[in-house]
Amino acid sequence: MFCKIANGELKSEILYSDEEVVAFKDINPQAPVHVLVIPRKHISKHSEITQEDQAVIGKMHLVAKKLAEDLGISDGYRLVINCGERAGQTVWHLHMHLLGGREFGWPPG
Ligand code: AMP
Repeated sequence: MFCKIANGELKSEILYSDEEVVAFKDINPQAPVHVLVIPRKHISKHSEITQEDQAVIGKMHLVAKKLAEDLGISDGYRLVINCGERAGQTVWHLHMHLLGGREFGWPPG
């Protein structure tokens, strides 16, 4: 499904896009800022990344940092990657949640 967002087949509110990474607003936000950052390459979950993906994984972090600045949440934000059903993953295309604009508790649920 996120491949369709990346290639424009499925509509979404895209905040960032380049040849490797796309970022768009989460459809069901859990915080005032909730953005998903994905690689264009289809990787179904974090446990399937390989050495080959090193650059794109790094890029996802740089994009998240830039978006945090642009969206005014650099003073405190949370990055989350749910890997597998037990961790709450529901969409099978690797995605990093960028959450901010409120306080977050620890440990997470
Ligand atoms: P996860 O539970 O970590 O797999 O996260 C999946 C996230 O994708 C959830 O926060 C959903 O709200 C979000 N989501 C599902 N479909 C869409 C969509 N079409 N556009 C934007 N976000 C979506």
